[in-house]
This record gives sequence, C-alpha cells and structure tokens, in this order.
Amino acid sequence: MTSRPNLDTAIIGAGIAGLACARVLHEAGLPVTLLEKARGAGGRMSSRRLPDAVVDLGAQFFSVRDPAFGRQVEAWRQAGCASRWPESLWSAEAAGWQRHRDDRERFIGSPRMSAVTRHLAEGLTIIADTRIEHLEGNAGRWWLVDQHGERHGPFAQVVISAPTPQAHALVAAHDASLAAACEAVIQRPCWAAWALFDEPLPTLPGVDDDWQAVRLSPGHGSSPLRFVTRNHRKPGRADQGESLSLLAHLDWSEARLEDSPETAAEALFDAFQRALPGGLALPEPRELGAHRWRYAQPDVFAGGEPVNLDYRRSASGLALCGDGWRGPRVEDAWLSGHHLGEALLADAS
Ligand SMILES: Cc1cc2nc3c(=O)[nH]c(=O)nc-3n(C[C@H](O)[C@H](O)[C@H](O)COP(=O)(O)OP(=O)(O)OC[C@H]3O[C@@H](n4cnc5c(N)ncnc54)[C@H](O)[C@@H]3O)c2cc1C
Repeated sequence: MTSRPNLDTAIIGAGIAGLACARVLHEAGLPVTLLEKARGAGGRMSSRRLPDAVVDLGAQFFSVRDPAFGRQVEAWRQAGCASRWPESLWSAEAAGWQRHRDDRERFIGSPRMSAVTRHLAEGLTIIADTRIEHLEGNAGRWWLVDQHGERHGPFAQVVISAPTPQAHALVAAHDASLAAACEAVIQRPCWAAWALFDEPLPTLPGVDDDWQAVRLSPGHGSSPLRFVTRNHRKPGRADQGESLSLLAHLDWSEARLEDSPETAAEALFDAFQRALPGGLALPEPRELGAHRWRYAQPDVFAGGEPVNLDYRRSASGLALCGDGWRGPRVEDAWLSGHHLGEALLADAS
C-alpha cells in the first residue's frame, strides 16, 4: 500500500510573517506546524528580560499603511496586546532636539513588543529550539531535518519565513529559481544595544520630561545611532526602572559587524551621551549590552517579479514569505505572511 503524504503545512520560523501565515491556515481548520530555532516566537519583534526591565531589541514600533493590517492592529488593540506609542517622539538635529510631529499613527506591543507575536501564537503548534538545517524530499513529501539530525514530516508543503539569506540555504539544493530570488534580496545588519539604570535620567535642557523616543538623523554629529527609546515609558511598563534601547544606523552596523557586543554597546552609549543637549552626563548604567542582528532589515528587492506579489512559491510545495519580499517593516512582514496564507488556503479549497 502506498502511504499518502499528510497534508500538513510546515512553517519554518515563528516571526510575525510565519505566524500570520499560520493563523490564516489554522483559522480555516488546516493543520500547520511551526518550527522555530529560538526558545519562543517573535523573531525580530523579540524583547529581552533584564533583572528589572524588559527591553525591546528589534522593532520599536509599527505603523499602518494597508487597511488589512490596520484591521489586524485594531484587533490587537481590542485584545489588549498593542497600544498607540510613542506619544512623545523627538528628533535630534544639529540645531538641538525638536518634538517630531506628523500624521502617522504608531503602535507597540504591550506590555512588551513580543506580546503581539505571543498573541498570534495562541493555539498554534510551535516546535521551539529547533533549527531546520536542511530539507529532504520533493513535490508533496517534504521532511525537515533539525540540528540534532531529527526528521520532521512528511509535510505536503513547506513555508520558509526566515530572512532571505537563511531561506536561501534551505532552498538552494531544491529550487534554483527560489534560490535566485533569495540572492536578490539583501538583509542588512543592525546593532541594538540596551542600557539599564539604577536612577532616572536627568531632565534634558529644552526637552519635555515625558520624551519617549528620539530619532537621530544620519548627519547628527556622524552619530552611529539612529533611534533611542525609553522602555519604561512604553505602555504597561511603568513599574520598571529606567532603561534605553539604542539602535544603530545600518551603515555603521555593517562597518562594525565583527565588533564584540561590549564594544558596540559602549560605542552606542557614548554616541547617545554626545547627542544629549547641553552636554549633560548620563548616570553610569548598571547593565550595558548589545545584540547583533545579522539580518535586520531588507534593503534591495528583486526586480522583474509581478507587482504586488509579496511572497514566492514553487510548484514543488516550497514557499517563501517575510519582510524580504515586501519591505523593511513589521507591516510588510505581516502582509507577506498573511497573503501567502490566503494563497495556500485558496489552493486547498
Ligand atoms: C533592530 C531592528 C529594529 C527594527 N525596527 C523596526 C521598527 O521600528 N518598525 C518596523 O515596522 N520594523 C522594524 N524592524 C523590522 C521588523 O522587525 C521586521 O521587518 C519583522 O519583524 C520581520 O519579521 P519576519 O517574520 O519576516 O522575520 P523574523 O522576525 O526574522 O522571523 C523569522 C524567524 O525565523 C526563525 N528562523 C530562521 N532560520 C531558521 C531555521 N533554519 N530554522 C528554524 N527557525 C528559523 C528566526 O529565529 C525568526 O524567529 C526592525 C528590525 C530590527 C532588527
């Protein structure tokens, strides 16, 4: 008797794109299994627990351009896992700090960025701590082999939501066209540092005490910093001590890719110190650290593809989604995963 392939879909990566794809299938009653190399879901929307604070290490906020994502964000707000933020956004220019005003609404996961992905993950089957190292099989019958050599499957189709260089490593042996598409997307690196303090930051001259986040323009004293946020000024974290997330410019991160985390953290902290108005001194941080995102944000997109196609598929049952197929934001990643989920669902019905 020939064994029938099971109809499950495997999704490699439980960042927001993989989760968005999984939710479409799960809510339609189709079996789906996520496999994630980290301890939990979140990917580049993850947060880090420090002794007295939670700091966001990847995305600091998200904004809405597409109506479907707008409806999803509204649902997250209703569910209590997302809030408007920041209310007090500043920009550091050569002339000083200015309050930044525009019409764009921005949101954050509450009480931490990863609350959004945690909410999306509810009820889904996620196999964590599982790095898929290669795929075996072909059309309609795929096995996923993890870092321990364990085989997961068979699956009828495999969605890869990992950043494009990591997706490339998985598809290269199986599909030249998907591999070429991955090669055309560059994911640039970003250093993200954090600083935890025992005392509140001093009042900054000319800056309202309620400041929550500041953008630093690339020209601001050649600063390596692009964005700094105050974690205890984010929704649901008022009981925490003062802590900062300090994000580097991508160019600087690329040039300092092989620095140690200590060196990168000190450079970003010093840069913030220099960017303070009035030459003010910051208190000594109790804890200073940095995380290197080797594949932080996509920069170059493949040309010649059909307009509005923000995922890729092959006839053999492989599919790719994630921010690399659409744009460098949380919204892009969610839309890519959601649209791929809808396409897979349409095939199944
Ligand atoms: C420092 C930083 C700041 C940012 N700031 C913003 C911002 O302010 N606003 C905004 O909108 N966007 C921001 N972004 C971008 C945003 O975070 C991403 O676009 C989005 O989160 C990408 O989601 P994704 O699901 O496509 O990828 P990911 O979140 O990277 O998810 C992919 C998942 O795949 C897993 N994975 C990879 N390889 C394997 C494997 N072989 N086996 C199993 N699992 C695997 C990874 O662990 C990860 O969980 C920022 C990103 C970074 C890094």
